[in-house]
Amino acid sequence: MALIVQKYGGTSVGTVERIQEVAKKLIKHQQQGVDLVVVLSAMSGETNRLISLANELNDQPKGRELDVLLSTGEQVTIALLCMALEQQGVQATSYTGSQVRILTDNTHNKARIMEIDDSVIRSDLSKGRIVVVAGFQGCDEQGNITTLGRGGSDTTAVALAAALKADECQIYTDVDGVYTTDPRVVSEARRLDQITYEEMLEMASLGAKVLQIRSVEFARNYNVPLRVLSSFKDGGGTLITAEDPTMEQAVISGIAFNRDEAKLTVLGVPDHPGIATKILGPIAKENIEVDMIIQNTGHDSTTDFTFTVHRNDYDTALKILQKTANSLGAREIISDNKITKVSIIGVGMRSHAGIANIMFETLANENINISMISTSEIKISVVVDEKYLELAVRSLHTAFNLEHS
Ligand code: ASP
Ligand code: MG
Repeated sequence: MALIVQKYGGTSVGTVERIQEVAKKLIKHQQQGVDLVVVLSAMSGETNRLISLANELNDQPKGRELDVLLSTGEQVTIALLCMALEQQGVQATSYTGSQVRILTDNTHNKARIMEIDDSVIRSDLSKGRIVVVAGFQGCDEQGNITTLGRGGSDTTAVALAAALKADECQIYTDVDGVYTTDPRVVSEARRLDQITYEEMLEMASLGAKVLQIRSVEFARNYNVPLRVLSSFKDGGGTLITAEDPTMEQAVISGIAFNRDEAKLTVLGVPDHPGIATKILGPIAKENIEVDMIIQNTGHDSTTDFTFTVHRNDYDTALKILQKTANSLGAREIISDNKITKVSIIGVGMRSHAGIANIMFETLANENINISMISTSEIKISVVVDEKYLELAVRSLHTAFNLEHS
């Protein structure tokens, strides 16, 4: 019998009526002859509500206590779903993370799953029961409750699917799949039937709204077929899997973008060993994430060094950089916090030459200036002025024929 792990997100279990709908759906699936393990999130808004309760009493609650509190959201929905199922005459049992025994490390609020004991689940399934597991939580070796970080129920579902060697892990959510780009920017954006783990990871800025990115890494590492589908609308959703060498891949699968970026350049830094770490070390120390990094070829024994950060970190990064630039005797800093990054992504790029040029030509035809370029094996990113973001994404979407293929 096929074994499917299904995860329902917060909006899908946000009210008693919706929990009822999930129960009906599960019964239908069970009647089609599959073993079901169900992972639930807390009701939508609940985790935020619990966090604000905590903050009313303590502005820095201990991670351990916060996890005891946050894990209750999922405990509510799993019990309610089982009650709804039992009411319909279907046998079901709920388990918290520690009851299954989802063993994690002890990093409270962002714990990592280390091991899952599948024995209770298997025994329940063999008796024809539906197993309902609380997402987002586990326990450490001492039995302390831990949570996996916001959006962590997706990772619970994938980890269970890996441990149980499930045929598929299905994430039911409020969107019906992964799109070629954000449909709010390009109305012709198309739902992808299939995409590879690698592409999904590169599309993080698009995908993060759909799935916790860590769950995709997990799925890739354990080769779990992962499907994103809508709780509210029928359809096959988007299947995320390993690359299939026998299938012809679209050259470009999607266009991702990051709106809120900022760029900083130091001009005329002495071209010595150790310059990169002197510039970026102090930035990393402040926990500022650096995205693109470009160092020019040196001339006259100096060089220029440019990097991008999230716009929220711009002011801090600029202050740090000013200090560094003074101590290095650099000539000047120029910076711009009105930039965005646009990326085209596709595994088909590996076997097709000239993709970058189509991208550059398309942007040139729209008179969009590119200020930085970076590439990986399956992605080409450019930095452009934020006022051209929509135009850039739309023209690239058309140039690569994404509305049709
Ligand atoms: N309830 C948790 C959150 O809101 C986990 C999840 O929904 O995946 O982040
Ligand atoms: Mg979620």
